Amino acid sequence: MSYPERLEKIKILENTWQSAVNQSEMYSLIMQHFYSPLPEGKKVKKAIVIGYDGCTCEMLGYLDKVDRGAVKYLVSNGGHGVFSYAGGMPYPEPIIQETSTAPGWCSMLTSNLAPNSGVYENGTTKEVEPKTLLIKLVEDGAASSSAFYVSWEGHFTEDGATYLKEKSYIAEKGIKSVFACAEDDDGTRANVLGDINSEVCSDFIFCILEYTDHFGHEVDYLPEKPKYMQAFLSAEQTGMDIVDAIENRPTFDEEDWLILVTSDHGGYKCGHGGPTLEERITFIISNKKIETQLDVLKNLDFMDNTLETALPQTCVYGILEKHFKAPLPEGKKKKKAIVLGYDGLRTDMLLHLDKVERGAAKKFIENGGHAIFTYAGGTPYPQPIAHETDTGPGWGAMLTGLQSKESTIYYNNAVKQVEPRSSILAFVEDKLVDRSAFYVSWGGHFSAEESTYRLEKEYAEEKGINANYIRAENDDGTLENALKDVSNPDCSDYIFTIFEYPDILGHGYGFSLDIEKYTDSLILSEKAGIALVDAIESRPTYDEEDWLILVTPDHGGIGRAHSGPTLEERITFIVSNREI
Ligand SMILES: [Zn+2]
Ligand SMILES: [Zn+2]
Repeated sequence: MSYPERLEKIKILENTWQSAVNQSEMYSLIMQHFYSPLPEGKKVKKAIVIGYDGCTCEMLGYLDKVDRGAVKYLVSNGGHGVFSYAGGMPYPEPIIQETSTAPGWCSMLTSNLAPNSGVYENGTTKEVEPKTLLIKLVEDGAASSSAFYVSWEGHFTEDGATYLKEKSYIAEKGIKSVFACAEDDDGTRANVLGDINSEVCSDFIFCILEYTDHFGHEVDYLPEKPKYMQAFLSAEQTGMDIVDAIENRPTFDEEDWLILVTSDHGGYKCGHGGPTLEERITFIISNKKIETQLDVLKNLDFMDNTLETALPQTCVYGILEKHFKAPLPEGKKKKKAIVLGYDGLRTDMLLHLDKVERGAAKKFIENGGHAIFTYAGGTPYPQPIAHETDTGPGWGAMLTGLQSKESTIYYNNAVKQVEPRSSILAFVEDKLVDRSAFYVSWGGHFSAEESTYRLEKEYAEEKGINANYIRAENDDGTLENALKDVSNPDCSDYIFTIFEYPDILGHGYGFSLDIEKYTDSLILSEKAGIALVDAIESRPTYDEEDWLILVTPDHGGIGRAHSGPTLEERITFIVSNREI
């Protein structure tokens, strides 16, 4: 029987192996859990990942052989499961990291694939960044403590181990995270049970059992091999002991537990690391509904394109340029355009437009405007990002029309030379518009010594070019400056505004649909946006002007941060008042 035929015998998973999710989605599932509200009656968030190292997905077709098991228990008690994949890219594309232990778990723990984490194979020590959830959750205050229980020395014990630098960082900073390496799986079991049976157990536990990988290497990763089957049964048994211990906690009823069981890779013959389906198809089993950002964004039914056809955010430059170059429509005398930038507004927040009374994006979406998916980070999901999903690179891509490789804006506060020019300068210099204005409050654009457009601003001033770079104290000031401009009979032809509300509140309280303060940031941004749209539409000369209005964020966010490759961070959007 072919491996796809074997996989099709598994009836407990909710997707198909062809639509398997990247194992890095584990990161988002855990983050989302910690940044969602506590259900009625619950007092604390807890999560555990029980890893079956080297357990092929095929084994889930043999649950009838399992007497007691974590996967068996979870799926027969309202749990959920999906096919996932190792190797970084979906079949049949070439893998970009080995289907091995270190890259597999590292993708889940950091959300990053090898080109971004450096962990292509076993035996590479990762830098502290990108940090694992074990540190991130505790540092951000989402969990008060974490624990990492393993028996393989390649994680953080021997020379070249993956998390050696993280382990030192934890010790140095006094972070409440335990990294414990036992002799074998019995030792790991004892460590995990000891933690769970303690009164105040770790809020986030990541444990890895080696049974299946150990015997897979010895006899072949096949259910027909009795030793491999026995290894799976042992993993299931130990997994169940752990789940039992959790459910027997005296305080279990007050705790909101996310329980995940997964594997890092499968195996083929007596090894793994390669691109076969046997090695790359894995699974995620959960006690809760598994909803990835891909699923959430499908609810945005007003988008003109799909996530698969999302455009790079560099397209903003071309859209504006095309507008200014196009002939004036009948009866119009002047081209005008404004960009309303909502810094750090996640795309799924558009699902909350019902909470907005009046807003710019809301108005256009409800009144014949258009909306498209775009992406930050320079490359489409699930490819590794080409630059950080951050403010500097995000707006830089839109303003220069170039990805970081050409623009050199790889990170925040990167200092660009005058060339390549932003549209603020280029459109005036090239006589597409008479005057432009860039209204911001963040110092990293052109005010700080190390800021992206400082040299460009100085050049414009020196040459007396009518491109204006204006920084206010805060968003209120940005709105005031932009309102003053659009209320002027002779207003700037091209205006670029950036509001920081979502980024500030996201960093402060968490970037999540479920966090009220972050929802407030949508309301605040939309309020500023509609104030400008109202002012534009009440211009005495409005009927003679041909306005293009775009609403767009530079990046999203997850937890209390952004810069990484998750869909939550990299999917962006453009809403416009007309076809683009
Ligand atoms: Zn492994
Ligand atoms: Zn930010």
